Amino acid sequence: MTNDNNSSFSSFGLSDAVLDALSRKGFTAPSSIQTIALPRLLADEGHLIVKARTGTGKTAAFGIPLVERFVRGELTKGHAPRALILTPTRELCLQVSREIASFVPPGTGVPRITAVYGGASIRTQILDLKRGTELVVGTPGRVMDLMERKVLELSSVDWFILDEADEMLDMGFFEDVEKIMTQVKSERRVALFSATMPDPILKIIRKNIGEVEILEDEAPEDEKPAVDQYYLVLKREDRLEVLRRIIDGAEDFYGLIFCATKAGTDELARRLVESGFAAEAIHGDLTQEARERTLRRFRSKQTAILVATDVAARGLDIERLTHVINWDLPNDRETYVHRIGRTGRAGRRGRAISLTLPAERGRMTQLSRSMEKILGSKIQFMKVPTVK
Ligand code: ADP
Ligand code: MG
Repeated sequence: MTNDNNSSFSSFGLSDAVLDALSRKGFTAPSSIQTIALPRLLADEGHLIVKARTGTGKTAAFGIPLVERFVRGELTKGHAPRALILTPTRELCLQVSREIASFVPPGTGVPRITAVYGGASIRTQILDLKRGTELVVGTPGRVMDLMERKVLELSSVDWFILDEADEMLDMGFFEDVEKIMTQVKSERRVALFSATMPDPILKIIRKNIGEVEILEDEAPEDEKPAVDQYYLVLKREDRLEVLRRIIDGAEDFYGLIFCATKAGTDELARRLVESGFAAEAIHGDLTQEARERTLRRFRSKQTAILVATDVAARGLDIERLTHVINWDLPNDRETYVHRIGRTGRAGRRGRAISLTLPAERGRMTQLSRSMEKILGSKIQFMKVPTVK
């Protein structure tokens, strides 16, 4: 990851063992949001909202300080978890727990990390919890379920982290999150992470936890969105042909395609396969196992094209994606930002192309204006590609 702030991880007073784990992982310098957030999360008090673009390393911004506290012995081994991280989706839950595990120095007994999410065997998760765990990463639904079964006890939780907080609070998880929060002891620290934080959500947060400090990434030049954004205008019946041309015309297409519906996702993946492309669909109706298998094949590039609904793709960190395609336009600008943020990550350039129907021109113009404000660059008009 690029950085231009000349700081290094050693300037935060992290333990040698954690510094070693970071350098083994190839993290040579903190990203700019990490430079801002790490000291605040390592400090003794205060609730935080951390806002930074997608792909800027927010997971490590909360993961490293948490692990450091365990290594220092400030958070200790116990029967009940000392830290709880909520994520909106199952995939993100696994990704976050794996990333945090990679910061834990080998030979350190703590924190034991348990991921709890729907769609996977609850019995295994219950056994894991009963064996003892210090850090739980979970989706709101499964956390609620385990709380109600009295196998997940949150009264010892000192750290309560919400990843992709606005989405969780926005997408019907609000009541669950509120209930979970009341189970967590009142002296706990709360930190919320997201790329977007709409005002209504901000109000709800303030109402629930009181004073919060907002940390924002100043997005230095070399961390500006590395995504070139384009849109083209075309008729509905031409979309598949145009998509084929885009894929064929790319150097080495490795991309995510977003559809509005689960059925649309399946249908498009099927048609792409019929056209000879290695494509698969991923959405919330698939079993958790199927979703993970599909993701594994995509991560290893066995499939070059993943057709997804928004829920399946939020927060996913997949290396070296060349393209994000909006087969259907997203409903709001926050979703657009998150979708295109799947590419152009960790210092590599990506391309986002939105297929726009003639009736959607107005919406596209508005979206483009918003992106100029939020990301500093417009969505550029692109001619429909011709056959090579
Ligand atoms: P965000 O949550 O902000 O969208 P992630 O936490 O998923 O971003 O991080 C994006 C990618 O950058 C991940 O692959 C992560 O391992 C990597 N990364 C994070 N911090 C650093 C760093 N300091 N140096 C190198 N790579 C990093
Ligand atoms: Mg993230």
